[in-house]
Amino acid sequence: MKRLSSNLYLDLVSGREMVHCRCGAVLGPGDQDPKSLLAVKRADLSKAGPKVNPYGIGAKRFFLREYYCPACRRLIETEVALQEP
Ligand SMILES: [Zn+2]
Repeated sequence: MKRLSSNLYLDLVSGREMVHCRCGAVLGPGDQDPKSLLAVKRADLSKAGPKVNPYGIGAKRFFLREYYCPACRRLIETEVALQEP
């Protein structure tokens, strides 16, 4: 087993390395970007908390992208992303 993050790890399934959630769900092949195997939700940047952009400068230009395990719905990772034009 190789840990990718606090929520994801790689382990062998029938001899092939697969990405697993900490709930035990097999998410997909280990040679893919783990984010591509997760459910994605867009959220307002303010959801990241008061310390992220506290003055709201350019807030409409960015949003919060949340990645969830499709099996247990655990929040796996977040990232701030630029709105597409
Ligand atoms: Zn899970």
